[in-house]
Amino acid sequence: MADKSLRRDLTCEDVYGGVVPVPVTVDLQKASDGDGASVWEPMPTFQTTKVLFVDMDDTVRKGYGTTGKWVNGPEDVEVFEQVPALLYLYKQRGYRILGISNQGGVALKYMSRAKMRASMAETIEQCKFNGEVTLERIFVCPHHPDAEDETLVECMCRKPAPGLVFAAEQHLRLLNYALVPSRSLFVGDRPEDARCAAAAGIPFIQAETWRNQPVSPTVLSRMRASGKLSVRDSHRGDDQC
Ligand SMILES: [Mg+2]
Ligand SMILES: [Zn+2]
Repeated sequence: MADKSLRRDLTCEDVYGGVVPVPVTVDLQKASDGDGASVWEPMPTFQTTKVLFVDMDDTVRKGYGTTGKWVNGPEDVEVFEQVPALLYLYKQRGYRILGISNQGGVALKYMSRAKMRASMAETIEQCKFNGEVTLERIFVCPHHPDAEDETLVECMCRKPAPGLVFAAEQHLRLLNYALVPSRSLFVGDRPEDARCAAAAGIPFIQAETWRNQPVSPTVLSRMRASGKLSVRDSHRGDDQC
C-alpha cells in the first residue's frame, strides 16, 4: 500500500554501455510488503509509448557505407543534414527516439570506450533541432565475435540479436513507460537491423527511404530560422512538400 511518494533522479549507466546524456527522473512510492517492511518502488502508472528506434552509422550519421571511413571518435561524426528535422517531426508525433548501435570497434580495439561514448554524445548534440534534444539515448553493443578479449566475444546485444531493444524497453519501464512494439518503428541500413527489428516485433524501414521522406513546411521554416538549412536545400524541401 502506498503511503508516500517522491521523485528521484537517476543518472546511472545503462547496461551494455549505453550513453546517458540526460538525467532522468522517476516517480517512486513507499510500499509495504505485507510483513511490516517497506520498500521504494515505481508508481504503478505505466503509460504506453511508441518509439522510433534508429541505427547510427549510415542511418543517422555518415558511416563507412557513405564516406568509406569508420566513425572512431567524435571528430568523425557527421549527422545527415535532414536528420535533426526528421527526428524532431517524429518527436512531435509522440515518438520517443532511441539509438540502437553495434560498435564492435570497441571490442576490436579500433577505439576506446571513452571515444565511443564521446562520439555518441557528439551524435546526440548534432541531432538537436533548434537546441532541443531529439535523440534521447543511444544503446550500444561494444562486443564483436573476433575480439581477442574472450569476455567481449559473445553477447545477446549485437544486432541482429534484439538485446539492445530489450535494454531500451527496460529503460522505458524505469520511466514508467511500456513500449508498444507494433506502434513503433525501426530505421536501419543493413540486413541485421531488419532482423533485429523483426526479432523484437517492430516494423522496419530502410534508412534511405526514411531519410528521403518530405519534411513539412513548418519544420523547414523553423530550420531556416535556425540557420541549419542552406537556401538550395530549403528550395528542394519546398518542392517535396
Ligand atoms: Mg548502420
Ligand atoms: Zn553485445
